[in-house]
Amino acid sequence: MQSNPVIICHECDRMQKRPDAPIEGVLRCVQCDAILQKSAADNTDVTLALVLAGMILFILINAFPFLTFRMGGQIQETTLITGIHMFFIQGWWPLGLLVFLATILAPAFHLMGLFYILLPLKFGKTAKCLPWILRTISALQPWNMIEIFMLGILVTVVKLSNDGEITFGISLFALMAFTFVQAAIFYTFNPVVIWEKLDRLSDRHMEKTICRKDLVQCHICGLVCSTENMTGRLSCRRCGAALHKRKQNSVSRTWALVLTAGIFYIPANVFPITNIISFGEYTTDTILSGVIYFVKTGMWHLALIIFTASIFVPLLKLVILCFLLISVQLKTTWRQKDRTRIYRITEAIGRWSMVDIFAITVLIALVDMGAIATVRIEPAALYFAAVVVFTMFAAMTFDPRLIWDTENNSHD
Ligand SMILES: [Zn+2]
Ligand SMILES: [Zn+2]
Repeated sequence: MQSNPVIICHECDRMQKRPDAPIEGVLRCVQCDAILQKSAADNTDVTLALVLAGMILFILINAFPFLTFRMGGQIQETTLITGIHMFFIQGWWPLGLLVFLATILAPAFHLMGLFYILLPLKFGKTAKCLPWILRTISALQPWNMIEIFMLGILVTVVKLSNDGEITFGISLFALMAFTFVQAAIFYTFNPVVIWEKLDRLSDRHMEKTICRKDLVQCHICGLVCSTENMTGRLSCRRCGAALHKRKQNSVSRTWALVLTAGIFYIPANVFPITNIISFGEYTTDTILSGVIYFVKTGMWHLALIIFTASIFVPLLKLVILCFLLISVQLKTTWRQKDRTRIYRITEAIGRWSMVDIFAITVLIALVDMGAIATVRIEPAALYFAAVVVFTMFAAMTFDPRLIWDTENNSHD
């Protein structure tokens, strides 16, 4: 079956003609430069092989400890679940759930979901509940943070290197390999190719569309749908995902999320984030005092990572989102392409702020040695996690197509 001749940009809503020749490399929007579609090459077998490798590595990661810490005659080992368990023990279950989602649930669902879909597809069969699984994989993708967790481990390893002896476990090497395998899976997996393959298998013919105002392109499967005869909730005819000409109440909802994140940003930086009790002595740290400590002890690279990820990026993200919201409300035509680009960067970098939370996860798991040294979580950790989560939701809620809805080009 030939692909649909029309393609609509998700970021600026520009309708454009798909090239007749098969797409090599990536297809970019003529107006805003967003990626419209990845290569049309069918890499399903490569993805399946990578998924299998990923599953084996993921089992290793969860079965063995990744770090061992020796201090004052005591030995402490940590697996992926140890830090999460410690959050629950100390009563910070929302943090435990967040780290569980980011490091275990989302990667596991990604692997198992793809395996469940791709294996039958290899033999010309369609898995049950396939649309739901593809939609869930797509929704969980931003919350899959194993590569950021890896950076968190690195921060804690360097931080503790002066206080005791650290040994790397087999699972740490598996985790390193897994981050590369996962990146390769993201690179090779192309849901649009899967959907077109399914259309061919079921001999389903999706109507060809010509350029019309009522068309919306599905964010999940890439099908261009006509909304002309649809009433109530708009949903994709092929995969069932919700369709939006524009995200609903995008401006007011994004403002609400930005303001909430802005409010949490204050206690996240004012209150202590951890409390280290060592030989009866208490040392409380805020995010900033942690950065200053790294600078004083010569670990300037850690200071730079934590300052950028925990202080600078969240603030920058809030400022950029406010700027985009105001510019959208003014319906200005000023540098639309650059504003779309800024939005794209903001959406991509926000999740890296989680590195501090992951560093703490590894820290509480390793430094749990009773009277010798124990790390306790303080309220700022929860406020800070809230800032990251709310800014991520804010970036997801903001509709970049509004940047292109100006006086002369309104879609209301
Ligand atoms: Zn575009
Ligand atoms: Zn769809």
